[in-house]
Amino acid sequence: KLSLPVPVKKAFKGLESCGFSGYLVGGCVRDYLLDTLPTDFDMTTDATPDEIISCFTGHRVLKTGIRHGTVTIILDGMAIEITTHRTEGDYSDSRHPDAVKFTKNLADDLARRDFTINAMAYHPQKGLIDRYGGAADIKNKIIRGVGDPHKRMAEDALRMLRGLRFAAVLGFDLDEETRIAIRQNCGQLANISAERIAAELNKLICGKNAKTIILEETTVLGVVIPELLPAKNFDQQNPHHCYDVLTHTAVAMQTLAPVPRLRWAMLFHDLGKPQTFTRDAAGVGHFKGHSKCSEAIARERLTALRMSNVTIDQVCALVKYHGTIIEEDKKSVKRWLNRLSEPLLRDLIAIKRGDNLAKASKHHDRLESLQRLEALLDQVIAEKACFSLKDLAVNGHDLMGLGIKNGEEIGRILNLLLAGVIDEVYENEKDSLIKKAKEMRTC
Ligand code: ATP
Ligand code: MG
Repeated sequence: KLSLPVPVKKAFKGLESCGFSGYLVGGCVRDYLLDTLPTDFDMTTDATPDEIISCFTGHRVLKTGIRHGTVTIILDGMAIEITTHRTEGDYSDSRHPDAVKFTKNLADDLARRDFTINAMAYHPQKGLIDRYGGAADIKNKIIRGVGDPHKRMAEDALRMLRGLRFAAVLGFDLDEETRIAIRQNCGQLANISAERIAAELNKLICGKNAKTIILEETTVLGVVIPELLPAKNFDQQNPHHCYDVLTHTAVAMQTLAPVPRLRWAMLFHDLGKPQTFTRDAAGVGHFKGHSKCSEAIARERLTALRMSNVTIDQVCALVKYHGTIIEEDKKSVKRWLNRLSEPLLRDLIAIKRGDNLAKASKHHDRLESLQRLEALLDQVIAEKACFSLKDLAVNGHDLMGLGIKNGEEIGRILNLLLAGVIDEVYENEKDSLIKKAKEMRTC
């Protein structure tokens, strides 16, 4: 018996006092069985959307997806999605059902769901309704399509990516038939919108088993990120590396915190290698300019996935600089802080550390240097050192006060002053900087 939040109990009461039945369903039931607290609560009911609304007069109601039978009820500040039991008609575009039909029958509603672990319902008195063995699959850590996985994957291609995502996030295996169905139907992923693919991939790459899925299902993921394909089994022919490019990538990703921009950066950091590979006279592999090439790949792919410009720029900066040496002195740290900002510089250090950890163990030589770098960074931040224009003791207004009117000239002088302060040739002190500015002005 689950201990439910008060608003969820109220939602059950609201439906039942009007003569309808309600069940918790989908992700929240799965999460309870996984011993994790659900983030959102979805219910399914035999009431139509209008009937649902009439059960909750006096409460806030959002008509979020009336056409599909979904109403969101706000109870004590908690949003609960209540959806009429429904079945789905044929899928002619491998994405949208041609028609949605409401039904009085819970069993029909469960049959339309994607995976057994997502196809369970729960009622406080009736207990768990588990027609497809979802609880056993959770226990055995299996992702299994409901019914005939071939039919289910062909109906809605997004399910394939959801399947890989759940396997990566939960650390589950794919049931063999489901795996085959995903591999056979993966070409249909081309029909799915970039936004939906990106939302699934953001979760997948942050999964605790992202590595396994990336390595085992490269061909499927290659439909949405084709640049993964040449990296698979690409032998680096270089003594620093004990893995091929894709294995190195996947191992390195798994060392990182589950933050999309970090994981994306690591995913792309070496994908330019197959394109830049050359071998020297001794037969050792080299990849001149691979970071630049990887950065271009990242930008193109993330743009196609309609990621935000901020995310794209951050990921690309991490890819671009992942192999650039950061010197261990305060001036250098301040220059990098100026270039990247503090959070991104910390991310870069994490990327460098993960990259190094996923090389041959006798080449873990950079790790101590990175630790010293982090200590220096902490020190620079603690000292509130000046590393950006906003920390500078003079600003554009001060320079205008000197009669400098030209915006470009103001920018040029401020940047020269900042460079001098970062390099510790000038003090960050207003009067002396103003004096320097007067010497620097050309108009
Ligand atoms: P999470 O919210 O953690 O991503 P979830 O399982 O709750 O996981 P939702 O997208 O919120 O995922 O969907 C809620 C439920 O709707 C799922 O548990 C599943 O039963 C069903 N569902 C969602 N997407 C599909 C789909 N493409 N095909 C079939 N059923 C689906
Ligand atoms: Mg959900």
